[in-house]
Amino acid sequence: MVIIGGGFAGAWSAAGAALVRGDADLRITLIAPNEHLVLRPRLYEPEPDLAKVELSRILEPIGVEHLRAAVSTIDTDRRVVVADDEEIGYDRLVLAAGSKLVQPQGLPGAERLFDIDTLTGARRLTEHLRDREDYSAVVVGAGFVGLEAATELAARGRVLLVDRSEVVGHQLGPGPREEIGEALNELGVECRLGTTVTEVGDGYAVLSDGTTVEADAVVWSVGMRASELTRQVSDELDHLGRVPVDQWLRALPEVFVAGDTAAAAFDAERTVMQACQHATPLGKVAGYNAAADLLGVPLRDFTPGPYVTCLDLGGAGAIFTRGWDRRVMASGAEGKEIKVRINQAIHPPVDDASKILAAADRVYLELPFFPRSEEEAAA
Ligand SMILES: Cc1cc2nc3c(=O)[nH]c(=O)nc-3n(C[C@H](O)[C@H](O)[C@H](O)COP(=O)(O)OP(=O)(O)OC[C@H]3O[C@@H](n4cnc5c(N)ncnc54)[C@H](O)[C@@H]3O)c2cc1C
Repeated sequence: MVIIGGGFAGAWSAAGAALVRGDADLRITLIAPNEHLVLRPRLYEPEPDLAKVELSRILEPIGVEHLRAAVSTIDTDRRVVVADDEEIGYDRLVLAAGSKLVQPQGLPGAERLFDIDTLTGARRLTEHLRDREDYSAVVVGAGFVGLEAATELAARGRVLLVDRSEVVGHQLGPGPREEIGEALNELGVECRLGTTVTEVGDGYAVLSDGTTVEADAVVWSVGMRASELTRQVSDELDHLGRVPVDQWLRALPEVFVAGDTAAAAFDAERTVMQACQHATPLGKVAGYNAAADLLGVPLRDFTPGPYVTCLDLGGAGAIFTRGWDRRVMASGAEGKEIKVRINQAIHPPVDDASKILAAADRVYLELPFFPRSEEEAAA
């Protein structure tokens, strides 16, 4: 069995597969170029290097091999993948190659942009602004990631947040909007809406309204798209480039898909979000099912837990919401306390096979602030 990707979905697929393998003769290989599982949800923090876990500390205890390579080709007819020019055969494949920040098209000065999409990107931004007390930063995109970047950067500098949309947090809906606006006001983050950046230069950015603003750093955060590998598995990708899967997370008879590459159903109307909250259970179930299918064990349905969000707002705390209308359940310092706990809870257990496998068996995070039902929430 081969797993492509060493993020939340790939690492948890490995654990899910190891859980069902038991003593059976099943070789599990995870292919990913990275040495660390990068906890992308923490990359907005001041020290991004804290947002990583050595993959070997998860994979070695559970007997999963890690091939440090990047996959370029998936040949689903021949059931082989090509990783750094080496062909590797599989009986079952889990595609968990994640997502990447959508890049600008033809933006002059694009090479000067910063991002917090990858550990390398977040380190570069941190080093660029380290020890500077009064910088000007422009954040492009007022979605989840852009809001976390802008409010964090506002701790030490002046921040301008721009978005093509006429509202902040457009995709988060109206539920948390007022509180987000209050937090931006409190932190002195200036918003320029209905606008984008049309050029980035040395110390400045030009906006689509024709103005030029000071910018020691321009942070690009306009949304994510699934890995290009998805094209090699399906011709019917969704608007985020994800592969449609069934309730067992299967796309083809021998191929399962998890994490940000999977367009799995959340319920009758919605698909899952490109979020660690979904990548983790998707990984656990896809890995389990790929191995179970080979070993003749019944597959598990993917049935996600309730949808929540927790948006860090820097010095203004954080907002914790429940449901797809994103009702605010906690904000300010109380929200921040939840965010800190979530940012710890997403670290997988390490070094101890029994803890890693037990966590793979508990498909959903069991935390007081992640109740599975309204009744549990009330309790
Ligand atoms: C700044 C930021 C904040 C976020 N905040 C939150 C949040 O608060 N809550 C939340 O739920 N989600 C959040 N997310 C989203 C979350 O991080 C992603 O949904 C999650 O990381 C997806 O996990 P994944 O394993 O599917 O993909 P990824 O984390 O993208 O991992 C993909 C893996 O595949 C590997 N890979 C890629 N291409 C290849 C290849 N060709 N061959 C081999 N390996 C390959 C990569 O190296 C990596 O190891 C945030 C993301 C960012 C960037």
